[in-house]
Parts: sequence; structure tokens; C-alpha cells
Amino acid sequence: MNRQPGGKSAWDARIRQATELASIHPFAAEGLRFYAQIAMLEQKIYMELEQTPARPRSSDGMLRDQLNVSALLPKFSPFLTGVGHIAPPPLAQATRSLAEKSFPSRSRPIEDVWESPEAVNGNDETEEGLLAERCLAWLFLQPYAEYLAARQTRFLPDGTPSRCPLCGSNPIVGVLRPEGDGASKSLICMLCAHEWPFRRIYCPSCGEERETNMAFYSGPEIPHVRVDVCDTCRTYLKSVDLTKTGIAVPIVDELAALVLDLWAREQGYRKLQMNVVGI
Ligand SMILES: [Zn+2]
Ligand SMILES: [Zn+2]
Repeated sequence: MNRQPGGKSAWDARIRQATELASIHPFAAEGLRFYAQIAMLEQKIYMELEQTPARPRSSDGMLRDQLNVSALLPKFSPFLTGVGHIAPPPLAQATRSLAEKSFPSRSRPIEDVWESPEAVNGNDETEEGLLAERCLAWLFLQPYAEYLAARQTRFLPDGTPSRCPLCGSNPIVGVLRPEGDGASKSLICMLCAHEWPFRRIYCPSCGEERETNMAFYSGPEIPHVRVDVCDTCRTYLKSVDLTKTGIAVPIVDELAALVLDLWAREQGYRKLQMNVVGI
């Protein structure tokens, strides 16, 4: 696979696309502008990591075995300060409460999210402040995970796993790419941004593969993004269809298609993975 994140230019493309889409999709503009600012902070961390002495390529074990909290923690305070300036409440409040905590309490959400990235989704009982802290930790860990993933020896996983073959996290968006007369599908990881091949008709949440129980919908507002729903587990995830446009950046275009989230929720579907603006 050669569609993996490509360092600084990949971040530049995301920031550019978020700014561009914010001017085209006013409905989602607030989230897109927020994401552009977050991506700038994440890019800074990524660039700093790239400037540290090169670590050997890793070919074995899960990417998540490689967390080095002590090396990462000094970057957390400036990140929190940066997010505090741009985030809406309660995220801004969480940056302040985390900044006031000392080690090891401050690193707790980092370790929790690294251990269980799905914890950022929370549930009905999850306290709002805790969820905001996990969300901050997730945003902070994204460039780190992407940096590690870029140094992981590539391999093709057995079959088509529903979780990231490098780090075990949920997919955040699907991608359809032109292939022959049709399209191939892949998924992009919510934590390390790795993209891996996936089956066209298969629910990444429950494994449903009967076509009668799977459907997708799109709308005129942003026709190259669609929502894939599963009627067995009532879960949805969006896919960006690159057969319809060549200039999309999937994780950014996913944010622009906010209207599809609202539609899916109205129909009673639950999102498989929350995105970086909390939708
Ligand atoms: Zn991953
Ligand atoms: Zn399902």
C-alpha cells in the first residue's frame, strides 16, 4: 500500500482542505475551522517527532506496545495551551483542569486512550469532563501514532479486519477508490491514520454481510460522501467516494458532511467512531 500519510505534506493537505471546505459548506464550517487549527497543532508535534533521532523501524508487535510517555509528556503542556485558545467549552475547560494536574494524573488520559482508543466515544454514563480529557489525549496522540505507523514495516493483514491492523483502533472513515471498472474500499484508522483494504459489503461494527441489511445514502449537499448504515446493529460510518471526486482528503471531507450525521441520527443510527469535532 502506498497511500499512507506522508509527513508534513499530508498535514498541509488536511489544513488546506479544511479551510477550503469551510468556505463551501457553511453548515459544517465551525467544525472544519476548528479542525484546521487542531491539525496545525498536531502537525507541530509530528514535525518535532520527525526531528528527534531516528528510531529503528519496527516490524513486530502492535504499534500500541510502543508508547513512551516520558518522552511525550513534555509536549502535552504546550499542546493543551494551544487547544485552550481555540477550543469551545467543555474542551477548553478540560485543557485548564488537565494543565493544573501534576504527573501522573496528567498523563492518565494519555495512557487510558492509548490503551483503549474506543474510550473516546464514551457512553451515556461517561462524565462530560472525563470525556473531554480523553478527547484531548486522543488529539494529542494522533500525530504520535501516525509517526509510529509511518515507521512500522508495512504488511498486508490476513483477511479484512474491522480494526486497524497496526494499532487495533476503530476506523474513522471509509474510502472508495477507483479500481478497474468499479471501486475498492478501504478504512482509515482513527488513531494512526493507517489505511487498510476492506470489503465493500461488510459492517465493521458487527460483521453483517447480507446486502439486504446494509445500505448507503448520500445527499446533494456533498454527493461524494455517503453514509454506510447497518440495520442489524444500527451503526453507521461515512465513506468518501474518490470515484466521484479526485481532490478529497477523506478525514476532512468526512467532517464537511455533517448533514449526513444529522440524518443518520434522526434515523436512529449510532456512529461507529466519533470524529475530531465530537460528532
Ligand atoms: Zn491504527
Ligand atoms: Zn452492523
